[in-house]
Formats: sequence, C-alpha cells, structure tokens
Amino acid sequence: MLSLFEEKELPESQPEFSFADVILPVPIPRMFTYKIPRNLYSEIQIGARVIVQFGRKKILTGIIGKVHNKPPQAYEAKPILEVLDHQPSVNPLQIRFWAWMAEYYCCHIGEVMHAALPSGLRLSSESRIQVNPNFDKENSPYPLDEREEKILDALENQSELSYDDCEKVLGIKTIHPILKSLVTKEAILIFEKVQEKYSPKIETRIRLRSDLAHNKEALEELFAQLSGKVKQESILLKYLRDVPVFQKPELNEKGLDKSTLLEEGDSESSLKTLIKNGVFESFKVVVNRLEEIQPERTASELSPIQQEAVDSIKSQFEEKQTVLLHGITGSGKTEIYIRLIQEVLESGSQVLLLLPEIALTTQIVSRLQEVFGSQMGVYHSKYSDNERVEVWNGVLSGRFSFVVGVRSSLFLPFDSLGLIIVDEEHESSYKQFDPAPRFHARDAAIMLGYFHQAKTLLGSATPSFESYFNAQQGKYGHVELHQRFGDAQLPEFYLADLGADRRKNLLKVDSTRLLREKIQEALDKNEQILIYQNRRGYSPYVQCEDCGWTAECVQCDVSLTYHQFSEELRCHYCGYKEKVPTSCPACGSTQLSTKGMGTERIEESLSLLFPEARLGRMDLDTTRNKYGYQRILDEFGSGQIDILVGTQMITKGLDFGRVTVVGIWDGDRILNFPDFRAGERAFQQITQVAGRAGRRSVKGQVVIQTRNPEQDIYAKVIAGDYKNFFRVEMAERKQFYYPPFVKLIKITTRHADFKTAEKAAIALHREMAQIAVKKIVLGPERALIGRIKNQYQFESLIKLDRSGATQQEFKKRLAEILEELQARSEFRSVRWIIDVDPS
Ligand code: ADP
Ligand code: ZN
Ligand code: ZN
Repeated sequence: MLSLFEEKELPESQPEFSFADVILPVPIPRMFTYKIPRNLYSEIQIGARVIVQFGRKKILTGIIGKVHNKPPQAYEAKPILEVLDHQPSVNPLQIRFWAWMAEYYCCHIGEVMHAALPSGLRLSSESRIQVNPNFDKENSPYPLDEREEKILDALENQSELSYDDCEKVLGIKTIHPILKSLVTKEAILIFEKVQEKYSPKIETRIRLRSDLAHNKEALEELFAQLSGKVKQESILLKYLRDVPVFQKPELNEKGLDKSTLLEEGDSESSLKTLIKNGVFESFKVVVNRLEEIQPERTASELSPIQQEAVDSIKSQFEEKQTVLLHGITGSGKTEIYIRLIQEVLESGSQVLLLLPEIALTTQIVSRLQEVFGSQMGVYHSKYSDNERVEVWNGVLSGRFSFVVGVRSSLFLPFDSLGLIIVDEEHESSYKQFDPAPRFHARDAAIMLGYFHQAKTLLGSATPSFESYFNAQQGKYGHVELHQRFGDAQLPEFYLADLGADRRKNLLKVDSTRLLREKIQEALDKNEQILIYQNRRGYSPYVQCEDCGWTAECVQCDVSLTYHQFSEELRCHYCGYKEKVPTSCPACGSTQLSTKGMGTERIEESLSLLFPEARLGRMDLDTTRNKYGYQRILDEFGSGQIDILVGTQMITKGLDFGRVTVVGIWDGDRILNFPDFRAGERAFQQITQVAGRAGRRSVKGQVVIQTRNPEQDIYAKVIAGDYKNFFRVEMAERKQFYYPPFVKLIKITTRHADFKTAEKAAIALHREMAQIAVKKIVLGPERALIGRIKNQYQFESLIKLDRSGATQQEFKKRLAEILEELQARSEFRSVRWIIDVDPS
C-alpha cells in the first residue's frame, strides 16, 4: 500500500502537506477539507480512517481521500482529531475507483463509500468498542497503562462501550488516543453499532495442561488418580484419541474444539472439574466463518475449439484491455474462464469473476469451487455483513486471490487485479437501480480493470448491443464460439399461435395444444420441462366484469397483483397489501374476475392439466430466504420436480441435462416492453431461456406461445441470427438517437405534491436546456408509473453526445443546477434522482 511519506524524510519545519480531503458518510457532494495537525503528520496516509468534527456537534469517521496544500475557500478548516489506522483501510486504487464512480454516475463520493464498505468496517459517532477475544492480558507484549486498564475493567462488566461511556469511565474528553493505543495493542475491537456489527466467530477450545502433554509419566499418574471417575476418564480418553499427544506432543497446542470433545453425550460438569483441577485448560480462538474447501478436480481438458478461443483471447489481450467472448449457450465458456483464471493466478495476480445476482448460488459456483477450493472467495448478496467482512479481510490477507461475486464485489480491497471476467455481461441486473451509486457493474469493471492495468473479459451468448458495437468498432477484441460443447445441439423452435387455438377452441387456461403435447411427450419419456413467464403472483389484474373497475395500489399508479396462496392483492412496487374484496368497490357487483397469468396461476393450471406431474415454481416469492433458490434447484437437479415454472430466475445459467422442453408462456409480453431496448431484451431473454433446453445429447424443443407469430424477431431468434438482428436494430437506434450512438441520462423529479413535482421538473428542464453542449433534452413527462409510494414522478431524458468532454461539462453544470434548485425554499423537499446509462 502506498504511504505518502517515509517517516524519516519528513521535513521538520515545513510539512509537505497541510490539508487532507476527507470522505465522509454524509450526503454532501464533495470531500471536506481538514487541517493536518503537526503531531499527526507522520500518520496521515491516503485511505486511512480519521476522526473529525463535522458541523458543530457531530464526530464522524471518514477516510482520507487526498492530501494537498490548498486551504478551503468557503470555510475555515478544522483539524483532524485522530488517525485510526496504521494500515490504510482502503487502498489508493479503491479511492480512485470511488472518485471515478461518483463523477461518472453523478453521485456523492460519500454514497460510494457507503456502498463500498461492509457496514462492519464503517465507523461513525456511533462506534463502539469491545474486548478483542484474542487478547491475552497476561502474556501480552504490550503493558497497559492505568487508563487503558480502566477501560478494560469496564469491559469486564459490560460487553461493549460507546465513546461516551469511555469518556465517563475516564472522566476525560479526549479518549481517541487511548482507544487507538488499545487497538494497536490488540486489546479491543472498534465496531459500528448502527447496523449489524461485525463480530468474529469464536470457538472455545480445550487442551491439556502443557507439562502433562509433554510428560508421559505425569499423564499415567493422572490416569491412576482418575480411576473410578468414569466420566472424567472418558473425556480424557476421547481427547487422547483425537489429539495423539503421546506421539506428537506439539499437537496439544491447538487443542480440540469443545463441542467436538463433548460430542458423545459427555457431561459439561465433568469437563469443568477437569479444568478446575488443572488437567485441561480452555481457551478461545477466532475462526473463519467461510469454510475451508479442498479442490476436488483439476480443470477439464479443453476441446480444440475451446483451446483456440483461449489462445485468441490471450493474443487479443496483448493489444486490447477488453475482449468480448461471444459464445452460444452451452459452448463451454466456464471451462475457458477456468483456464484463464488459473494462468493469471499462477502469475501472482488477483482475479475477479462477476456473476449476475441470482446465478451465484448455482452450479457455476460449485464447478469453480471444485477446481479452486477455498482459494476462491464467494461474495454473495445474501451474505450477512459478518460474512462480507470476512471475504473483505480474506482479500486483504491474501487468503482469497480469486473472488466470485455480485456487482458489489467490485469494491473489495484488491490491489493487483490481473483479470476481471464479467459473465453474462448483457444482464440488466448488473445495473444498480437504487440507491446511488446507480452504477453498471460491467462498465465499472472495465474502469476498475483500467486502474489496475488488468484485462477484462466479457462473456455472453447474447451480448449487449453496447459491447457488440464496441467489438465491431475494434475497441474491444472479439472471440466467437458457434458450437455447443460435445454433441449437444441447439434446440428446435415452435411458434404456438394463441389466436388460432382460441378460434378452434383448443386453448385450455391459456395453454396451446402444441405446448401441452410437447409437455406430455417429455413427461412420458421422464424428461424435464421449464416454463417461463415474466410475471409472478397469481394474476396481474382483478377486474369487475360489470363496470370494468380494476384493483389499484393506493400509493402507486399500478394494478395490484393477486396472490392466491396468501389470498392477497399486492403491489410489486411498494409492497402494499390488502385482502381481496368480495364485491366491487365501485358498483357493488360480485362478478370480480382475475385476468392474466402469473407464475402462481400457471403452476396451478399445469397441475390440473398434468395431474401426474410434479410441479415446482421459482420466483421471488418462493426464493426469499437464503437457501430457497438452492433448494428448488437441488430438487429439480435430482429429478423430484418434472415441470419447473419460473420468472427470469430460470433463464440464468442453469445447466440441467434432462431438460428437453422449454415453454415460453407469453412471448408477446416479452416483446411489449416500453423501451428502446425492448427488442434487444426480447432477443436475449428468449435465446437465454431456450438455451436451457437440450444441453446434452437429446435435442431440445422450445415452444413460444404468441398472438403474433409473424413478428420478425421470432424468425431471427429461431435462426440464431444475432448479427442481422443487431444490424436492423442499430439502424433504428442511429436514426432516433439512442445508445450506443448517444449517452443517456435520466432524471426523475419526485415529490408528494403533484404541482410541486411538476414545477420542479419544468424548472430543471429549462435550466438544462441552457447548458451549452451537444444534446437533446426530452420531457419532462409523467413517469411510466406516475406515482410510486405516494410520490409523483416526472422524468427528463437527456441524449448527450458521446464525447468525454461533453459528458463532463454537462454533469458538472447539472450538479450546479441541482444544488441551486434544491436551495430554493419551494423545492427543498423535492428529490432528484440521476440515472446515468439507465437500463
Ligand atoms: P455456457 O456457459 O457457455 O452456456 P457451460 O460452460 O455451462 O456453457 O458448458 C456446457 C456444458 O458442457 C457443461 O455441462 C460443461 O460441464 C460441459 N463442458 C464444457 N466444456 C467442457 C470440457 N472441456 N470438458 C468437459 N465438459 C465440458
Ligand atoms: Zn364494478
Ligand atoms: Zn404500491
């Protein structure tokens, strides 16, 4: 890590830097400048945590982002109160990455810091202290002074203390130096109380008194003494069985986990007696939450085509930072990743593999774990904060040189990345939607790679148009794989015409005859079926047959989805729920009916149509808890489910050999997305879900139900004709100024009062129109969902020229405009949300 000064070279009278810019966890747009007091010169390092006063009363912990000699103009700089870290908590590359992110995505660097640090590492005035469980007062090389002793005594009675408590205990105001000294002596831990704190996992271990372990005779004598005391004797025997101290006395040092020792129903009290009599001693250690996993296999032999791809990627990396690996579903991209990862790890650099949220619990992780064992860290969004801190620390200590993770793993403290892989790079879930920073993990990965001088590999069967465009322009390298691994073939497609079946009276609860036949054939052959529908719940509308009334959310302008299982109407935007009405609130009619099919209803109707089949469902409702997703996948994998109905979740990276039929319940729903990306998305979704079929020797079949079988996009997906589809869509995007030909920024103006929201949106719009750069400003318009959680929303869309200078200038002016608008009393409580590169 880069330290700014060598202590020896520190000039006595003229310090090199007098000011430090500190990143604070508060919603202000910039870093704050503080004075560096003389006594702290030598400890100031970029990335170190410091304690500062903010405002009149608040004491905050921040991170040093920059040091310089420029006093702030608008205010008198206050001094830094204390430096908390000997070793910086974050490295300069991370700070550079944060600063880039704040600038590019128009947010505050404090917000980036907030997203970046696991809460266990954050600090604020709410910081608390506890005894470090590793601290051994008797044998500590660092003696404690009187005040330090007092703090530790206080911690005997109370397991944790706040800063205020410490001040009271000592009766003095400046406690930072004392606490810091205690941290240095490893006597205490400082943690954050606001959120779930990081607490190390502690194991109680038991070992023999050391002279007994090294002295056979003494031990034999002990046995003689214990004769007749059956319980104590059996504990001692168990210990000696697990820890053979006669042969290897040094093994006694590590001892045995207490729960292992007492496993076979031994009594705790016998052990206590043994400890009291000095036979055993008990001690505590901090253990890893993340279990150790040994590699089980070596990487697979690559096919000649895969090997060619690896060679091509490597040779293109010679010239380009980023390469797009465009390989059809089932072409074996994972094995290609494994090969590249191994080579980079051998060269001593770190590797990060990004996966979309949900794919993380799937097979790809276990496949990687088989090869890399616990050299590989997994950073999951469902991890507890404690587990996250352990991955963070594992990266710092070098335990994990390779991490597989969701988008937030970009913030881990890597210091020498050699390779970043973004799998399924087209996935829209890579974009953080809320809160800020609203970053796109693929784009941020490329930037992070640039800072580390690392290579970035983007993998997908259906690349995003942005990436494909960059590859075509020669900005990225490009490697294609057109064949599935082994003898697997791409599936056969069928378009099932919903309209025709309806006219011939062949529809049964919205299923076509063709789909039912394909499902039945697969069931007869004991094969598996996936049914895809992009909508959860039972049905998306409840409507009155007499007056046309529909149930809507009271807080948002959207219809409520009926969930049959819980007999509720729910809003998928704000979580609002209500009981299903028995009669129409508008006209009193009892003729209420449900319209449309969500996954819940599809599952129900399929179970009626195929009573012998075992059904499963995978959507947000069935996978809420940490292992829900895994459990359903395990059941499907082991053949306990014949038909799995699911949302987008089933499109991501599933690799099951017995899936032969994929049904797309409502193809039109996928196409009718009100967005310039609708076509691109539809192509991706259909191709990806279809790609789950026939991944081994049996050829797969895909049935798409639609009212418009003549739509051109179906023909293109079926032909796998990405290139032509891309060409046609791109011509349109060029003509109508859409990405990648321009950069988009979407600004949402939100307020509880309709008029205020509208007025603020118009004011912003006028100001933006004045910015003198090449751009088109559209709107403001009521958002697609005009009201959410009782907040009215207006949207402006800005199409910016792609040049870096234009973007910088626009963003700079935008920040000024918003600051100024926000200062007007009428707009004080208006919220503006800036989304750069909205997805
Ligand atoms: P993709 O990610 O491109 O859709 P996968 O990496 O999941 O494809 O590979 C498809 C299937 O082929 C998987 O079951 C995988 O285990 C198998 N496979 C791929 N490459 C090899 C290889 N070199 N040796 C053995 N099996 C392979
Ligand atoms: Zn009615
Ligand atoms: Zn709502």
